[in-house]
Formats: sequence, C-alpha cells, structure tokens
Amino acid sequence: MDYEKFFSNRIAELRREGRYRIFADLERQAGAFPTAKNYRDGAVHDVTVWCSNDYLGMGQHPTVIEAMSEALQRCGAGAGGTRNISGTNHYHVLLEEELAGWNRKEAALLFTSGYVANQTTLSTLGNHIPDLHIFSDALNHNSMIEGIRQAKAQRHIFKHNDAADLDRLLSAVDPALPKLVAFESVYSMDGDIAPMAEICDVAERHNAMTYCDEVHAVGMYGLAGSGVAERDGVQDRITIIQGTLAKAIGVVGGYIAASHSLVDFVRSFGPGFIFSSALPPAVAAGALASIRFLKDHNEIRERHQERAATLKRRLTAEGIPVLPSVSHIVPVMVGDATLCKQASDDLLRRHDIYVQPINYPTVPKGAERLRITPTPLHDDAMMDRLVASLIEVWKSLGIRKAA
Ligand SMILES: *Cc1c(COP(=O)(O)O)cnc(C)c1O
Repeated sequence: MDYEKFFSNRIAELRREGRYRIFADLERQAGAFPTAKNYRDGAVHDVTVWCSNDYLGMGQHPTVIEAMSEALQRCGAGAGGTRNISGTNHYHVLLEEELAGWNRKEAALLFTSGYVANQTTLSTLGNHIPDLHIFSDALNHNSMIEGIRQAKAQRHIFKHNDAADLDRLLSAVDPALPKLVAFESVYSMDGDIAPMAEICDVAERHNAMTYCDEVHAVGMYGLAGSGVAERDGVQDRITIIQGTLAKAIGVVGGYIAASHSLVDFVRSFGPGFIFSSALPPAVAAGALASIRFLKDHNEIRERHQERAATLKRRLTAEGIPVLPSVSHIVPVMVGDATLCKQASDDLLRRHDIYVQPINYPTVPKGAERLRITPTPLHDDAMMDRLVASLIEVWKSLGIRKAA
C-alpha cells in the first residue's frame, strides 16, 4: 500500500467537500477577554472571539490565575504520577470534595478530560455489570458513544429528548435486567435542553440508572451553578452526573459525581482513570477556585443568559436564521459547508470577528452553522459589530435568511 497517497487522498476528499478543518492560530490575552491575537498570513490581527467554550471567561479570571500561579509555585508543574502511584495531590482531594458537594453527591472522581470521564465511566460500567442494557440519546456526544461502543453492553438509541420513546424501548427489555440511561442536559450544537424530570420519571419506573453529561451546563445553570440537574431540582434523581472543568470552569479536566460505591468502583476498575497520570496540581487548584467563585456569583449566570437572549432577539429581528435555542448557545444556520466556511472566513478577514464554522460530522449535512457563544464579557458595542457584520456577510454571500 502507498500509505502517503492514502492519507493525502482522504484529505483531498475533505477539502472537496468543504469540510477540511483549518485551526485559527490564536493567542488569548489574559485581561482582554474576549479578544485574542490571530496569527495569519504572516501578520498578527486583533480579533473578537465569539465561539469560545470558555463560556464565562473564567479561564482568564484573576481569581483563577492567582490560584494557579500560587499552586504552580508551591507544587511545581506536573502531578508526578498516576493517582495511585504518587500522583494524588491535596488539590485533587479538595477538588473532588468540592465537586461532590456541588452536585449533592457522596463522592466525585477526576479525569484528565470530560471525554475520558465519559468514555471510561460508560465502558467500565458496561463491561462489568452483567447483562447491562444502555439506552443512549440519539444526539449524544462522541465521548459517550465511544464509551458505550467499547462496553460489552447491549445498546439502544432513543429519539432525541423523547422520554416516551425511551419508555417504549425500556419496556421492551426484561424488567429484571440492569439498565442505564445516558443523555446530556444542554446539547451544544442546537442549544436545546433535555426534559430531565421526565427522563428521571421514566428511568425510575424501569429501575434504570441515569447518567447525565452536564458538560455544557456546568457553571452556568442553577443558583449555585452546578448544572441543569440543580436548576430542575433533580440532582438526587440522577445516578451519575458527569462534567468538564474545561468549558465554563475555564481550566481543563473532567469528572463524575455519584454515590461512594459507584465512584469507588470506577476508581478501582476504570482503565482511563487508573492508567493515566493525574492532572497537574495547579490545574486542580484553578478549577477549585473557579468553582468556589462561580457558586457565589449567580449574577454572572444572569448576565450570561441576558447576553444570549439579547443576541438571539437581535439576529432574529434582522432575519438572520437563529435556531430557537433555550440555552446560552446561539446557532446561526447556513446549511452549506462551503458557504459556512466562507462566511466564517469573511467575518475573520473583513470584520476581525472569529466564529468557527461547524460542519459535518459535528452536525448533519445541510445543518452547517456558525455556533455563536456570547459571554457575560461581550458588551453592547461588540454585539453591535457582530450583528452588523453578520448582516453584511449574509448579504454579500447571498446566504438564505429566515422565512
Ligand atoms: C466537550 C464535550 C465533552 C468532552 O469534554 P472535554 O473536557 O473537552 O474533554 C464531553 N461531552 C460533551 C457534550 C462535550 O461537548
């Protein structure tokens, strides 16, 4: 086989389909959120970032930076090992306690990422619980799909956010067999939110465990900010709450929160936890400071929701097609991979606005979009510029407007 030819042919295919990924070369500016330097064509440009998952700007918050600097000076760079072999730092212990309490669970467990948390937890449960049936929402994130795929468990896919379809599928399986329902709270591409209480009702009727990925809700929903389970008052009804420290918390890492015995089980049997080095202590310190800050500052969440609602209202008024998202995510529909890429390029090159195009396979073909994530730090002047730029780009490229 000509390996080089194989690789380059497959890449050429991606380019033809307009979905070859080009990374924006950025240098984030602490203290100047949401602006960044963009290195492009041999020059450096100042751009406003409108697609970051640092949803609340906590990645540059002075409290977080200070906590990380202090821990870095005190403990050094790396953890020095896996959690079992010398790598458990006191910051990990404090952070796990914080996460457990925040989610009203007995215990929590850290992973190197939210991806690894999903993959390891789901595959470990699926591989060890005899005859487990896993019921997975049709739009679940790749990390859950991979975890479920690796598990030896039987897999069932229920219609997105459809508790009745879930009920129908659960009813078809022997009531005596163990079951787990896996879903997300906020879905990051459409910005819709799961009917948490309804899913819990159905799961409880069938004695199924529930597993909720709160990655796009952590820090942002509920009075103390732990997620939609808190907002909807169902924390006690979700068996396993999973989240990330890399999005609204602003650092990196993932976690699950659950009962003592379940967490101890994953800690003791999960390969992606056991065989990987622990997070750097400074990372744990930063996440801890970020969570403690966010718990006490609900006004950031209120401002965040106001910014998203305002942007949706303004774009809709201009005929720019926005999905009716019920969250902080503002999906602007283009519906064509090449046009979507072109719109993103024009925004960057002509307007110094950075919004990455979202194409297949992240979203279905024909549903290509610009996924805009306003934060509490995007002010009115920035929003004025974004709206005017989108109007101009929509016009110059002849992109379909809302009906
Ligand atoms: C980003 C994401 C993850 C992975 O989290 P990381 O901490 O970035 O690895 C998991 N689930 C969903 C829904 C995500 O969007």
